[in-house]
Amino acid sequence: MTLDTLIKEIPRIGPVFQRKLQRMGIETVEDLIFHFPHRYEDFSNIVPISKINPAEQNCILGKVLEIKTIRTWKKKMFLTQSVVEEIKISSPPLANARVVEDKTETIKVIWFNQPYLTNVIKKNDFLCLAGRATPNKGGIYLSNPIFEKISDPQSQDPKTGLIHTGRIIPVYPETEGLSSRWFRYILKPLLSNFKDKILETLPEEIIREEKLLPIRKAIWQIHFPDSLHSAEKAKERFSFEELLLLELFVIREKLKLNKEMAPSISTDIDLIKKFVQKLPFRLTDAQRKSTWQILKDIERPRPMSRLLQGDVGSGKTVVAIIASLNTVKSGYQTAFMAPTEILAKQHFQETTRLLKPFKIRIALLTGKEDKIVSQKLARSVKSGLIPEILEISQSKLLEKIRKGEIDILIGTHSLIQNKVKFGKLGLSIIDEQHRFGINQRAKLCQEKDDGVRPRQIPHLLSMTATPIPRSLALTIYGDLDLSIIDEMPKGRKKVITKIVPSEERNKTYNFIRGKVKKGEQVFVICPRIDNPATDIAPEVTETNSKISSLWDNVKAVKEEYEKLSKEIFSDLRIEMLHGKMKIKEKEKIMASFKNKKIDILVSTSVVEVGIDVPNATIMIIEGAEKFGLAQLYQFRGRVGRSNLQSYCFLFAGAGSQKTYQRLNSLIKAKNGLELAQKDLKIRGPGSLIGAKQWGIPDLTMGNLNNINLIEKTRNTAKEILRQGIELRKYPSLKKRLEKFKMKIHLE
Ligand code: ADP
Ligand code: MG
Repeated sequence: MTLDTLIKEIPRIGPVFQRKLQRMGIETVEDLIFHFPHRYEDFSNIVPISKINPAEQNCILGKVLEIKTIRTWKKKMFLTQSVVEEIKISSPPLANARVVEDKTETIKVIWFNQPYLTNVIKKNDFLCLAGRATPNKGGIYLSNPIFEKISDPQSQDPKTGLIHTGRIIPVYPETEGLSSRWFRYILKPLLSNFKDKILETLPEEIIREEKLLPIRKAIWQIHFPDSLHSAEKAKERFSFEELLLLELFVIREKLKLNKEMAPSISTDIDLIKKFVQKLPFRLTDAQRKSTWQILKDIERPRPMSRLLQGDVGSGKTVVAIIASLNTVKSGYQTAFMAPTEILAKQHFQETTRLLKPFKIRIALLTGKEDKIVSQKLARSVKSGLIPEILEISQSKLLEKIRKGEIDILIGTHSLIQNKVKFGKLGLSIIDEQHRFGINQRAKLCQEKDDGVRPRQIPHLLSMTATPIPRSLALTIYGDLDLSIIDEMPKGRKKVITKIVPSEERNKTYNFIRGKVKKGEQVFVICPRIDNPATDIAPEVTETNSKISSLWDNVKAVKEEYEKLSKEIFSDLRIEMLHGKMKIKEKEKIMASFKNKKIDILVSTSVVEVGIDVPNATIMIIEGAEKFGLAQLYQFRGRVGRSNLQSYCFLFAGAGSQKTYQRLNSLIKAKNGLELAQKDLKIRGPGSLIGAKQWGIPDLTMGNLNNINLIEKTRNTAKEILRQGIELRKYPSLKKRLEKFKMKIHLE
């Protein structure tokens, strides 16, 4: 066996476990060995039974005097009861256990609901037991201790070979129902067999300079540490290594990109002036500045890689549309990708509407249906809001894209399918870019090599309302160029945000009714689709998986819709919207909401990003504590998009002090950046940059806050790459980087 041996060839791992591991992305022995614990329990201190302290975790050695399982009369619960006796050891003496000579101590042990234990543990077995001691009438007993059998304690030091007790034990994240016990059982022999085959990845001089543990020692110490200190040292080493890999990856991509050619798209000032004059509003200075930066960038024959960051509602879309217009008029195509179908559709409508006078062929390509609208048709639209749409077959549309007969193609992930081939792609735009994986972003910019020389790749404009602190942005994107819209359109009023206590619910409802009677509209957001707990909205589980077990009594869209439409607002027009509805249905509802045919829209977080309905002025968030700050901020950004005064009402379920504080920071924060930094502290960088989509290892995630380490690894990465971006001098580092790349490309 080698490190590349597949796990299915390991005899101890059966098919069920293989599948579970595969779902976690663990395919080989190496992957398994590099699956790290996230914390440790310290059971290294073995005490005599007489010294057991009920206040803390205890670890003892004992011999089983009796063991039996009974069923309790009232609760129908299985209790496995045992009595163990202190092991008397003549030699060698235990380091910590001074055995009381004259009296033999015993203690009761109880396991709850594990009746099979009577088949595993037998009378006269020697055990090491670790767990809490609970006082009761007749003294104290160990409840649900972790147990581990030991061979005859007289013949050797009983601590030898322990992996679950009697030492510092690793605790692994319990994904896919794989227990820490199982990982320890599998990893111990693997580590013993493979520890000499693991090759050092870090250059010798770096290990020396940074005083890092060498890999073989570190890999052992991260799983089965001799002390908490050495566990920490091991973690330090791998933190350094993983961040270094991340830095190598992003910096290398950037260096490669700088060598590529891109079409040079000249700025047509007259055209842009004409467009801007026709807008129903005046661009803000920040919008002008960002537009200018982008136009200057795409004039150069090097691919642009620019992030347009602007608070929700700051007007990023129109900037993207100007860049698209200019691109199209200089003979190139634009691809515009959004994370949800609703949003893609909205961009399609907005783009079609604003570009109406410019004879541009715009098409929408979403998951299931494909639509194209031609200039002629768009012109005949009366309302101006929803352009008339001509549907054509997918194959026809794809052909038109290939022939360059579509100028702007708007869509979801569907744009990056292999069958979508652009004839002359000049600009790729990604809206709400943190919603996409790194690979998906890269794909939209990969021009298929058509043999034309010099090869050209399109410019990339990504947009986000999630302000990523600069240090973090640098880490994950390399040296990216940043345009910031730091100014809101004139006349916008601050959204009034309130945490509403339950006794004021009716008062709030009355207030809402008043607003609706004046013609304004309302969003109601619920954390999930259905009740009971079976049906958590997929949109929510993605970001909040950690707390998904605490979902009782959480408002559900369907239920809330029933209640509001039948009891509370039976006189108003109410509809619901959630991710499980058919796209046609969703579109229809969004369209009626936009056209003011619906007063109140009860929805899951599908409206979280991007949706623009300026007439909506009230945002109600049920179960607000279930959402991250960045998410709440996005919700609130759905209102306050016109000159009308808007409101955001937060209803929170179980209101701990902490929840309250968190929600309160939404009220207090001056802008998105401040909130993002708070979120970064509370929930870690994962929630900010969509780590799920990235597949960034946990250890790295945890370190994205560590500015010192980031700078160190950044400099090291640059140093290494200076010696050649192919890493020829560092073969094992190169190999790990390839693996790392594949891992973060796994989406
Ligand atoms: P976001 O930056 O969140 O994507 P949008 O691009 O959706 O924001 O714009 C929000 C709303 O503001 C839209 O209705 C848009 O038409 C409008 N808007 C954009 N720029 C301006 C401006 N300079 N003045 C007034 N309204 C604007
Ligand atoms: Mg937007």
